[in-house]
Amino acid sequence: MEDCIFCKIVKKEIPAEVLQETPDAVIIKDIHPSAPVHYLVISKKHVASVKEIPHEDEAFVGHLVHAAKDGAEKLGLKGYKLVFNVGREGGQVIDHIHLHILGGWGEKEKKSINV
Ligand code: AMP
Ligand code: ZN
Repeated sequence: MEDCIFCKIVKKEIPAEVLQETPDAVIIKDIHPSAPVHYLVISKKHVASVKEIPHEDEAFVGHLVHAAKDGAEKLGLKGYKLVFNVGREGGQVIDHIHLHILGGWGEKEKKSINV
């Protein structure tokens, strides 16, 4: 989609630190991290938010979660949070679906986040 920053990252028109790529998603490092380790699983297909996921495409979210799991493994995270912000009231700023991977805290550290 034109003028969508994450579509531009997917098309490599804007640089990003890519962790890995799957047929359906690209995982990049978040530029303003909200946790010691913060990456974003960006869908290659432009879907604005969780609210817009087509009913018939049940595999869509599964692909994103699987990509996140593989990415977290590559990052060596033992535990982590996966977060979808949905809509402005849910803290979503970029209207292109993405799954936050947040981790890197010590075992006893406070793990509350606000992404
Ligand atoms: P959200 O609030 O769920 O829409 O999250 C958007 C996230 O994208 C924020 O955590 C931003 O720090 C991150 N972000 C915005 N622009 C970029 C960029 N060019 N490269 C990497 N991360 C970005
Ligand atoms: Zn987009």
